[in-house]
Amino acid sequence: MVGASVAYFLARRGVAVTVIERTGVACAASGKSGGFLALDWCDGSPLGPLARASFALHAELAKELGTDYGYRRMDTFMMAARENGALAGGHRASAPRWLDGSGIVTATLGSIETTAQVTPARFTAALLDAAQARGTKLRMAVVEDVARRNGAASGVVTADGETLEGDAVVLAMGPWTGRLAGRVKLPSIYGLKGYSVTLAAPDVPAHALFVDYRTADGRALEPEIFPRPEGDVYVCGMADPAPLPDSPELVEVNDDSCAVLARAAGRVSTTLAEARIVRRQACYRPVTDDGLPLIGRVPGLRGAYVATGHGPWGILNAPATGLAMAELVADGAASLVDLRAFDPARLTLGARPL
Ligand SMILES: Cc1cc2nc3c(=O)[nH]c(=O)nc-3n(C[C@H](O)[C@H](O)[C@H](O)COP(=O)(O)OP(=O)(O)OC[C@H]3O[C@@H](n4cnc5c(N)ncnc54)[C@H](O)[C@@H]3O)c2cc1C
Repeated sequence: MVGASVAYFLARRGVAVTVIERTGVACAASGKSGGFLALDWCDGSPLGPLARASFALHAELAKELGTDYGYRRMDTFMMAARENGALAGGHRASAPRWLDGSGIVTATLGSIETTAQVTPARFTAALLDAAQARGTKLRMAVVEDVARRNGAASGVVTADGETLEGDAVVLAMGPWTGRLAGRVKLPSIYGLKGYSVTLAAPDVPAHALFVDYRTADGRALEPEIFPRPEGDVYVCGMADPAPLPDSPELVEVNDDSCAVLARAAGRVSTTLAEARIVRRQACYRPVTDDGLPLIGRVPGLRGAYVATGHGPWGILNAPATGLAMAELVADGAASLVDLRAFDPARLTLGARPL
């Protein structure tokens, strides 16, 4: 998502771009995440201005790209539910009729003014298609190092030993960007695993749900439920400390974790209780030591840039990241947002990835 966005905004400026992907477009978190977007949920943190700029860009891109990738505004609710039994009292905020399970709506978190969604895999593909229509090339290869000439980045070296030349290199390999930490000076980048299931449930309204959930064995979970315009309902959660595998195709799905998510969804709505599971997935979000993304120059290597570490907000913040990075690469500075809080040099460099 982040790489596709950087490519699109560079291509929109007329820059010749090559996207290098090892496995498949949107094969990892960017194809398997929620795609939930919020205008103001990052306010009060250094991410606030980036998120606000990105929320606005999402609306513009939905028109500009001219492709349907599931962008729509949503209402968003907080709920509480238990795997066993019902909670005392009824809904504490006005509740849509389809939330007819044993859960209760405890608050309204967002409206069509402040919350929205995309279907992430389709959005990533739409951005890359639009970039390709402007001349961007997509190349399948495994990047292993940054090539250097006269102390500056001059391209990338692939696992086949080939050097692909470029005037600038943007590292946007999600949690796997950390695998280059031994080759270039980068702070630690980790992967945090999560699961999702997709339920076949057409005609569920555009209402996003954040659920405070307790399992029968006492675990406190926070599943997120996003009905999609394609006629299914995406449910995610269940953080797992499993280490990041070497490549996206090695990510393992745990059926028990997926079953917990499907059961949780079934507790808030009888429609979801009856719905068939059509997909079980797992993916790793890229995270950093201070929870903020890395968007900026790779310290000590002219012409090399990094854009990753967006944690739970990579789909929301990809458009503003892409536009700001395109400005940084092409103009030498970003004007859309102040990137200083995201400068990789703020963190200890050279730390080993987990
Ligand atoms: C369960 C879950 C739900 C989420 N829900 C939301 C949400 O609702 N809203 C939101 O905003 N965010 C959400 N996120 C976060 C979001 O999905 C991520 O922040 C975002 O997808 C990260 O995008 P990325 O492009 O940085 O990384 P990735 O999607 O991981 O992409 C990295 C790409 O680099 C490729 N690659 C890796 N190594 C190499 C190499 N050596 N050479 C070439 N290519 C390589 C990979 O194949 C992959 O395609 C969620 C995350 C998870 C896990």
